[in-house]
Parts: sequence; C-alpha cells; structure tokens
Amino acid sequence: MMAVHAKLQVGASPAYPLPAYARRVMGALEAHGYEAWAVGGWVRDALIDAPSHDVDVCTDALWPETRACCQAAGLTVHETGTHHGTVTVVSEGQPVEVTTYRVERGYSDHRHPDEVVFVRDLVDDLGRRDFTVNAMAYHPERGVFDPYGGREDLARGVIRAVGDPSARFAEDALRVLRAVRFAARLGFEVERVTAQALEQAAPGLADISYERIGAELDGILATGRMGWALLAHPDVLCAAIPERAPARGFCQRSIYHAYDVYEHIARVTWALEAYCGGYARPALRWAALLHDVAKPHTLTVDDEGRGHFYGHPEEGARMAGTIMRRLAQPSDDIRTAAALIRMHDHVMEPTVRNVRRTLARCEAAVPGDGARLFFDLLQLRKADATAKQPRYARFAVWLDQVEELLRAELRDRPCYRLRDLTVGGGDLIDACGMEPGPAIGQTLKWLLDQVMRGALPNDRDTLIAAVRAR
Ligand code: ATP
Ligand code: MG
Repeated sequence: MMAVHAKLQVGASPAYPLPAYARRVMGALEAHGYEAWAVGGWVRDALIDAPSHDVDVCTDALWPETRACCQAAGLTVHETGTHHGTVTVVSEGQPVEVTTYRVERGYSDHRHPDEVVFVRDLVDDLGRRDFTVNAMAYHPERGVFDPYGGREDLARGVIRAVGDPSARFAEDALRVLRAVRFAARLGFEVERVTAQALEQAAPGLADISYERIGAELDGILATGRMGWALLAHPDVLCAAIPERAPARGFCQRSIYHAYDVYEHIARVTWALEAYCGGYARPALRWAALLHDVAKPHTLTVDDEGRGHFYGHPEEGARMAGTIMRRLAQPSDDIRTAAALIRMHDHVMEPTVRNVRRTLARCEAAVPGDGARLFFDLLQLRKADATAKQPRYARFAVWLDQVEELLRAELRDRPCYRLRDLTVGGGDLIDACGMEPGPAIGQTLKWLLDQVMRGALPNDRDTLIAAVRAR
C-alpha cells in the first residue's frame, strides 16, 4: 500500500523542446547581453516527460532591464512582483514569469526573507530554491545546469532539500508541506535526512498563514496520494491540521474496526481514489480526510467495553466546516464536504424507497446537486467500508446495489424534487381551486412525499384528483 515510487526515466535533456514563446523571452534578454535560463518546475517536469509545466525564466538582468529588453522586442510586460525581482512577460499570448537571480537573507519570522538581494550568479539563485529537483536550469544551447544533483534525485525518486534541510525548513516552514506535496505528486519518497528534518520542523507550520497551508493541502489531495502522505508524514499532516492529531493511535474499541482512527482515515482516502479512478472532486477528498475528525471527541464505552461514537457525523461536519473555512476553501466545497460527512453513517439499503429518500435528503442538503452528492456519498461509504475490519468490506457490494438502483431511478424520469412533479403551484390554483399562499407549498410537499413513497404515480391527472379529494 505504501510503496508509491516507480523508477522514472530521467533524460540528460528535456523530453520535449522548450516552447517557442519562452525562447523568445530569453532571446530578448540575450540580445542585450544578459543571461537567461528556464528554471524550476518546467525543467523538472520536462526531464521526466511529465505534462509540460508553465515556464519560469531567470536572468541576471535587473527587472527594469528585463522590462526594457522585452518591450524593445515588442512584448508586453506586467510589473507583477518587482519587489522580489519578478515581471510577467506576455509572449505569443502566454505569460512567462521572469525573475532576477536573487538570494534571500534572514527569515526571522520563519516564512518571509527579511531581505532579498539580487545577484549575478545562477548558482546562487538555484541555491536558494527549496529542493534539488526544483533547482535546475535549462537553456536550449547550454543544456541542463544542475549544480545540486537534481537529476540524480529525480532518477532515485527522492525529494531532498538544497543545502542543510533543518536550516532550510527553519527559514520557511511552508517547505515541509511542499516537500510532501512534491513527493506525493511525483510518487517519490522524501530523502531520509530531509525527512528527519521535516518531522522536526513541522511545528513551525504554526507560523504559516492558514491560506497557504490550505493551498498546499489542496495540492496534496489533488495528487490522490493523501493516504500515503498521512501515513508517511503524520507529524507534518497533524501540524497542518491539528484536529487530526488526537486520531493518532486512537483505538476504536469496536469489532467493526481493525485500525486506529488515524490509519482508518488514511485507508479511506486511499480507497476513495481507487473507487473514483483518481478523479474524486476536491469536496469529496476533503470529506474523506475529515469524515471521522470528531471520533476522538465523541467516544463513549458501554458496559461490555465497546466503543460508540454517537453524533460524530454531525459534530464532524461542524468541525470540518470550521477547519475548511480556516484553510480558505471555497464555500461550495465546504457545504458539500459537510453534507457528505453528516450523512456518512446514514442507513442505506438497496431498496427503491430508501434510495428515493436518500436522494431527497441529498437534494435538500445541496439543492441542485443531489444526485451527484448521492454518488459521492456512495464512493465515500464504499471507501469507508473497505477501510474497516476486512470482513465488513462486503458492505461495499451492498452499496453497489444501492448505486445500481440509483442509476435506474435517475434513468426513469426521477421524482425527488418539487420541480420534478407533473403539477406545480399554478395547477393547484387553476385546477383545484386553491388560494395562493403557504398551503400551496405544503400541498406540493405532500404530493412529492406520496410520489416518492410510491403511493401515487407522478401523473398530472392523478395528482390533481388526489388534491381535490383531500
Ligand atoms: P508547481 O507550480 O507545479 O507546484 P513549481 O516548481 O513551479 O511547481 P512553484 O511553487 O511555482 O513550484 O515555484 C517555482 C519555483 O520557485 C520552484 O520550482 C522552486 O525552485 C522555487 N520555490 C517556490 N517556493 C519556494 C519556497 N517556499 N522556498 C524555496 N524555493 C521555492
Ligand atoms: Mg509553478
């Protein structure tokens, strides 16, 4: 389950050419005698033939010089980050960030350099970058420039800090999460010495803004390898979400569970990716990560010594909302994740009646998105079942039957929203002689309930007759 690293083919040079639009920006600088290189993510990804990344350029020109060279070449320049030496040059419609070689000094707050110093040597610029695989430069004529062993680490499948890892994490604690994100994305491990420094530096995340932590966590979730991240780097993940920490080693005292709460969560996030083919939406991934967050707070133990977690879905939904808001997640995702968590223990049976009722409940939770929420709920619950005591994994098969019924229900003119009824408020006024007012809404709800129970067909004449007879 944990081995994620597959050996990569690392070329001596990029697997595809540097895009012409970037070359043009570099050419504009070189025409005036400056040096320019593609750097960072594009070089890393091109060496392993990963999908092409946007191109960042670095240069020994100071930013006003960059601006002058690029404008002389007819390119548009935006002053997007001049205080740290960056301008954005638009070339053939593509934005290219061009940054002056620089080093950073003094990180007294553990997140921002006290001083940015522009330098004339590329080796120094690469040396201030976080990881060896991110500290390479490339030029179409001069080839790959790799003073810190990035290519070798790419081939080995490791994320290694440039320089002394402890010092680098002490400068900027966000790098501990970046290390885990890059390792997850590339299917790498964090190199041993860097990993030790990582665990020690993790508490430093307390100094980092919640928004940046949220963006990194989102990035890790998007790789589909949060399960690996949770198990390989628990100190880092618990520092990023302190509410996760009590789950570590927390015994569930339950015949249903083979793992402590923390490992259960890791296995759920892992299984979810399998059920969703790696394409779960962010809200569903957050829900998997946080679905049992309230368990340690809601444990009660009965006379026979069995653990119960009454109310943990509701409490978990509330806590997840607080955590996700703090981490600046989009409000739609928060609502969806909270709804999934709230419903993750609801009774589900492969009966038409239960499916209709759950569909209506999902629709009420997220109006307009009920069917999708139901499908997501099914994937979450299958993943949840798979991550319990192995013999309860069979429940996932039962959920497959629910899913089949849901598909059938949605295929045959589904009726689980007021707007699916063949009558509307106007019909009740015109055909049944009702007065406009709250009674209309109540009657429509009653009709929907009758149709969903199967007591009435969703047929206009029948429904009107039923209202008249009422
Ligand atoms: P991606 O954008 O795909 O996550 P990237 O490599 O482009 O990957 P960015 O965060 O865009 O990463 O940063 C661009 C480059 O700047 C990195 O490759 C790295 O060299 C450097 N860098 C970014 N953030 C840091 C940091 N916190 N500390 C040190 N170097 C950094
Ligand atoms: Mg980038």
